[in-house]
Amino acid sequence: MERFVRLTAPTGKFDFLVKLLVFVLISGLMNHIRHIFVYGLPGQKTYWENLGDATFTALPMCTFALLLIGHLNALQKRLYLQATRDALTDLPNRRCFMDKTPERISPTQAIMIIDVDRFKDINDTFGHDIGDRCLRQMALHLYSSVEQGDMLARIGGEEFAALLELADDAKLQRIATRMSAGITFDTGQGSIQRVTASVGIARSDRTMVRHDALRLADKAVYQAKSAGRACYRICLGSQRNETQQGVPAALPTTSLS
Ligand code: GH3
Ligand code: MG
Ligand code: MG
Repeated sequence: MERFVRLTAPTGKFDFLVKLLVFVLISGLMNHIRHIFVYGLPGQKTYWENLGDATFTALPMCTFALLLIGHLNALQKRLYLQATRDALTDLPNRRCFMDKTPERISPTQAIMIIDVDRFKDINDTFGHDIGDRCLRQMALHLYSSVEQGDMLARIGGEEFAALLELADDAKLQRIATRMSAGITFDTGQGSIQRVTASVGIARSDRTMVRHDALRLADKAVYQAKSAGRACYRICLGSQRNETQQGVPAALPTTSLS
């Protein structure tokens, strides 16, 4: 049904008129078939005569149906956006990130979790509204750090996640360094704050299960926090454990920084 609504919804005035014409022609055809069944073929009116008979009722009904379909389609799109977008930053939300991240993360992909450092202090010192503005600015900064084909999402309060494609060492280093350096945030209350992030990366030279990749990235975030924040750490899925148990384990933390 969703697909039908999407396909038939008018996309403009011209499209509306074309679809209205098609709907009316179909109504005429149905009327013609009905006449053949009811009155038989001999002496039957032509299709165009039966179409003329049907038009009077079909035109308002088809117009109404098309308007309704257009409305349903707009509603469908709005609901989809509300279900998959984060209202504060307009980034994809956790549900969307999970839906779009494959079950198996290939060796050319990497999962990144980004946690804003000491964000509670911003809220406590300047208030929740300014905290919100800071989160939006941070989201923009993170978004400008990933590259085409990558996906960035807000997965929780001050936590973001990214799925990176073609994630070689140089790319990971470039993106993670920029993300962790953070932003210079003007609070609008006479002070400028440096807001940084701790970044955890999970990658492997074998395919990883998504759940394990997220767990590894989370672990790497904690390592970055313990190392003093404003930095990044990488946890590698181990080949041996991946093949033996299907669960990658973290090798001793490797950092490119
Ligand atoms: P750490 O460096 O260890 O991550 O410290 P932190 O303060 O960032 O972490 P903590 O988990 O203690 O605090 C996160 C804060 O983020 C607490 C919560 O009030 C705030 N927060 C979560 N979601 C939102 C939001 O949508 N808007 C605002 N303004 N604050 C939020
Ligand atoms: Mg957090
Ligand atoms: Mg935090």
